[in-house]
This record gives sequence, structure tokens and C-alpha cells, in this order.
Amino acid sequence: MAAAYLEKLNDRQRDAVEFGVTAPGETIAGPLLIIAGAGSGKTNTLAHRVAHLIVNGADPRRILLMTFSRRAATEMARRVERICAQVLGANASVATDALTWAGTFHGIGARLLRIYAEQIGLNADFTIHDREDSADLMNLVRHELGFSKTETRFPTKGTCLSIYSRAVNSETPLGEVLRAHYPWVSGWEEQLKELFSCYVGAKQAQNVLDYDDLLLYWAQTVSVPELAEDIGGRFDHVLVDEYQDTNRLQSSVLMALKPGGRGLTVVGDDAQSIYSFRAATVRNILDFPGTFTPPADVITLDRNYRSTQTILAAANGVIDLARERFTKNLWTERQSPERPKLLAVADEADQARYIVEKVLENREIGMTLKQQAVLFRTSSHSGPLEVELTRRNIPFVKFGGLKFLDSAHVKDMLAVLRFAQNPRDRVAGFRLLHMIPGVGPQTAGKILDAIATDPEPLTALAEIPAPPRSGDNWRDFVTLIEGLRKQAGGWPGEIAQAREWYEPHLDRIHEDADTRKADLLQLEQIAGGYPSRERFLTELTLDPPDATSDQAGVPLLDEDYLILSTIHSAKGQEWRSVFMLNVVDGCIPSDLSVGTTNELEEERRLLYVGMTRAKDSLTLITPQRFFTSGQHAQGDRHVYAARTRFIPATLLQFFETASWPLVSASASERSARQIRIDVGARMRTMWK
Ligand code: ATP
Ligand code: MG
Repeated sequence: MAAAYLEKLNDRQRDAVEFGVTAPGETIAGPLLIIAGAGSGKTNTLAHRVAHLIVNGADPRRILLMTFSRRAATEMARRVERICAQVLGANASVATDALTWAGTFHGIGARLLRIYAEQIGLNADFTIHDREDSADLMNLVRHELGFSKTETRFPTKGTCLSIYSRAVNSETPLGEVLRAHYPWVSGWEEQLKELFSCYVGAKQAQNVLDYDDLLLYWAQTVSVPELAEDIGGRFDHVLVDEYQDTNRLQSSVLMALKPGGRGLTVVGDDAQSIYSFRAATVRNILDFPGTFTPPADVITLDRNYRSTQTILAAANGVIDLARERFTKNLWTERQSPERPKLLAVADEADQARYIVEKVLENREIGMTLKQQAVLFRTSSHSGPLEVELTRRNIPFVKFGGLKFLDSAHVKDMLAVLRFAQNPRDRVAGFRLLHMIPGVGPQTAGKILDAIATDPEPLTALAEIPAPPRSGDNWRDFVTLIEGLRKQAGGWPGEIAQAREWYEPHLDRIHEDADTRKADLLQLEQIAGGYPSRERFLTELTLDPPDATSDQAGVPLLDEDYLILSTIHSAKGQEWRSVFMLNVVDGCIPSDLSVGTTNELEEERRLLYVGMTRAKDSLTLITPQRFFTSGQHAQGDRHVYAARTRFIPATLLQFFETASWPLVSASASERSARQIRIDVGARMRTMWK
């Protein structure tokens, strides 16, 4: 008799789960592509497939599972365990605990690179730069080369980094990238080449890797056949979710690990491809079958289990207008008399108030806060809502926005640990030395130079004479770093050591030192969840915790809270009730993305991704006017907004149109004035 978990699947899902699993012990087949629309059970099917493999004797230590975020990987592992438990009972957790190779491409890359560091000329102690650190290093190099003088109008550090990143991830020559995406800076091609080559040199000298390097080094590692075979040989099965959002580097890594496609399963939906700005290419999924001879098997799913029929009809209506599309429309049995709402409100203040009232109403009728979410195109759009939620004491967690680690004091603390891990990390070094009284930028530069060229950086550090006017601070600093390097305090005890050193500096640098100290204690708690300094730094950098309403770093685990998320970060998830903010032209499509057809099409898919997150109730809100400051505007503007072009009049039949509130305009006038200042400031940050 078939396992009970198989009974719950539909025929096609079951085919996908059982594909190539003929008898216990014979579980290696492939390649397989599962391509299907939103909510058709792709992720669920993948979890069942992993469980089915394990139940049929596959070794969980030899399964590599790659998902879009660490959160998704954890969720997947939990599901696999639940499914396995139906057959293995209490032994399921033993089996799934061994499923250790589950994570993001970047996270897995970092782990493999530490293992293979020696063989590829890396020092296994490398530290990882997040985007901000990378931009800082790019800036240092720009200055050194003299490219950053304002009169020359050289591109900003952020633009330089985006260009670099795009070229690397798409494996495209710089000139082509400039012509296609940055035509206004193409006159700087030669200088950019020099800058990037020095940037690469600096990273190597400092033993740091940026996000892109994790993929790039990995791809280069597996371009050596013996290493590819060795790494590929660690895994019998490689499974990837959300394959439509991988870039060329990621697909080339995958192909190198499993050149014949044996044991390879990828899953995705071309209609949900929304990361081309990070060089993801939908061609990866469309071309997947033909990459192999014979071509990969393809399984499509056509039944949606997530949304009601009315929500699905509206979402299908939106995506039907897309220019190109492979996956077909879905059907569902979930009937509902209620169409999704298209709600006009006066402005963003009313939008925020409406959501708060509705969310509370929903809670009254039994929906927890966690079963509801508010989605938006751009992180800064949720400002007025955050103000309103805070005012009404409704807890929320924001995904895809400001991260806990973005705050200066947390970055300072991490710089201490990073410097201890890798004293050549110049960005961390500058950040740290900057805190010591008497050490200016020039002295800091000299100190870091001395360390960089010495084979024993720590000895070099100890030999540096104390800078004038640094008093005892210099000695304290050197003692701290020596202690941390020797790991005298143990892990996570060393965080307390670092904190004791840092707190007096914190008192000097920041006025609100007390609240910041609370964050540091929290950081210490978070650190306790990791086995070592290296794992803590790596994983935190790759997947930082999200900011929450009380500014704490850890999500409020036991409490109920509302989810606020960018559409990008809402991928793969679902909620009973979904509200979408600012469904107006200028926000979605974003003003910045109406240049080319491709960009516009991606914005359409974004709306589709947002709408298909909803299970029972979906509300799209269109404020009639709001304040903004566009690139071309002088200061703030008061603009009248129009419904997004992706919902033309022909699609209105799928929605219940309404407006709110049904009261006089003067009340909303007042509130618009009250919130005006906040909104302006918030919108300005959008263009920074
Ligand atoms: P997305 O494209 O948004 O990532 P998806 O295709 O990965 O969606 P899932 O998240 O796996 O879809 O599934 C959507 C919902 O449908 C989940 O709540 C899941 O539990 C449910 N579901 C999937 N398959 C079945 C099934 N055979 N029977 C009942 N419910 C199912
Ligand atoms: Mg999914």
C-alpha cells in the first residue's frame, strides 16, 4: 500500500514525487523540471519528494536542497520531517536532522568554499562583505584611484557596485552591461575596468568575499573538473526551488555539479520571475529541458490549492496580459462569493487607517495577525502604515526592509568580531579603528597597511607603537583582539568581551546609548544560537534577521504579529488575507522601471506574485493622491495617482470596486496634513 502522504497528492504531484524512485535503494534519476503557476503545490511537492527519497533509503546527508531564503529552507526541512514522520515515526527527526545541506545558493557556496579554500588559494578564515561593506570598499578603491572627485561626475559607489555585480552575475562583458543598462556612464568604461580590477585585487589582498564572489568562486571551483566531480560526488540529489529566479552563475554551478542531470530536480514558475535586476534570467528555467540529452522530463501542475476562484480569476486576468508566458492558467475548487477588492482611498494616511481597522476586524472573526500580510512594491511605501501600527500598538515584523544589522552600533560590534576573524578586512578595520580616540583616518590607513603586508597580522598589530593621544585605548584594543583571536573567552563568550570593550565607546559616540546597549545584549542572545564565530558571521551576513516593530532583532517568536513585506520578499509564501499598498502607476510599475518592455513586464509579474499570495481575501488599495519626490521633480510633489496600468478597465469585472471611508473629505485632509512631513522624508530616502 502506498504511504499515506502520497494519497493526499494529485496525480501529477505524485508523479513528480515518485519520479525515478522505483524501488528502495534505486532512487537516482533525473533531470526533472516541475514548472507550474503560483500555489499549485510546487514547494509542497518538492518537500514530499525529499521526504519520499529519504523514506526510500536516500542518505539525507547526501541531499542538497537550495531555496530562495534561509527561512524557506528551514520551513522546507520542517515539512520534510512532518511527512517522513508518517512512515518513520520518531526516527524522522534523526533522518531530517541529517538534512544539513539545505539553504540558499550563497549560504551553501560559503560552506563549500571554506571546505575547499586551500585548494583554490583562499584562506579559510575569509570574511564576507554585505552590500554596504562592499560599497564601502568600492569607495575606498575609488578614492585611491582618484576617480571620486565630484567635478568628474564619476558614478557613485552604489552604481559602481551594481554595474560590477550585474556584469559578474550575468557573465556579460562590462561594455555590454553598460550599453544595455547604464548607457549614461558608458563613457567611463576604461576607468570602471580599472576600478573593478583594483576592487578585485583589494578583496583578494584582504581575504574578503562579497556576495557575488560566493557564486563566482564556487563557479570557478567547479570549472576545475576534479573539484566539480568531488563536490558533485558529495550529493546524490540536488533539488532547487524558485528556479526562475536563478542567474547564469547559479545555473552553471548546478550544471557543473550534475553535468548529466542525474539526481537533479528544479522547480519554478516563469510567470513569477522577478529578480532580473539581480541578473536572474528566466531562460534558465525555459532552457532547462533542452540542456540535457535526452531532454529533461517536465511535469506541469494545473490545480491551485491556495486561493479562492475569484482571487485566482483576477490574478490570471492580470498575467494573461503578459507578453510572454510558458505556464498555463490554473484552476481551483475553492469557491467564494467574494471578489477581491479594489479600494480607492483619499491618501496614504487613510490607506494606513483602513488596513489597521480591517486587520483588527479580521482578528475579531478569528484570523490571527500572522495570517494576514501587507505587501508593497518598495520598502519605503510602508512608512505611514508603520506609524499607524505603532500608534495603535499592533506588533508587526517587516521583511525586506531595514535589517537589525543595519544599525550602526550592531555593525560596530560585528566589525570587532570580523576583524578578529580576519585582520586584513579593511572595511571592518577602518570601522573599528575609527572608534579609538587619537586614531584618525591616516593613522588607521597606516596601521592597516602594516597588518596587510605582514604574514602574521596579529604580531604586526602588537608591534605597532600606540598612536599619540590614544592613551590606554590602544593597549586595550590590542589586548581585546589578541584575546578574541585566541578565542580565550570561548563562543559565544567572546561577544561579551567585545561588548565590554565597545560599550564605553558607544557611550561616547551615541546619545541614545541605553537603547543601543539593549540591542547588543540581544545580539549576544542571537549569537548563542550559532556553533561558532565563523558560522555566526557568515549566516548573519547572508541572511540577517528582519527589523520588528519594537526595533528588536529577533522576531517576536511567541507573539502574534502582522507581516509587512516587499513583494520580492513575499515569494513562495501565503496568507489568508493580503493587502497590497499603493497599487497605482508610479509605485507598481515603479517610476524607475517603465523604461523598457522587459522592465515593465517584470513589474506586471510582481503584481501577479503579490496577488497570488492571498488565500481567502485580497484587497488592492489605490490612494488617490500622495506626496512624492521624483528624480525629475524639484522637492516634494503632491501628485494625483492613477490605478495601475496592469488593471485596465477590461479587468475591473474581476474586482469589487469601492472607496473608503464614506465620510467627508475634511477629516482625511487633516490627517494628510499631519503625516505630510513623515511622508516627504520617507519618499526622499527612496531616491538616495
Ligand atoms: P508558489 O508558486 O507561490 O511558490 P507553490 O506552487 O510552491 O506556490 P505551495 O506553496 O507548495 O505552492 O502550495 C500552495 C498551497 O497549496 C499550500 O498551502 C499547500 O499546502 C497546498 N497544497 C498543495 N498541494 C496540495 C494538495 N495536493 N492537497 C491539498 N493542499 C495542497
Ligand atoms: Mg513555492
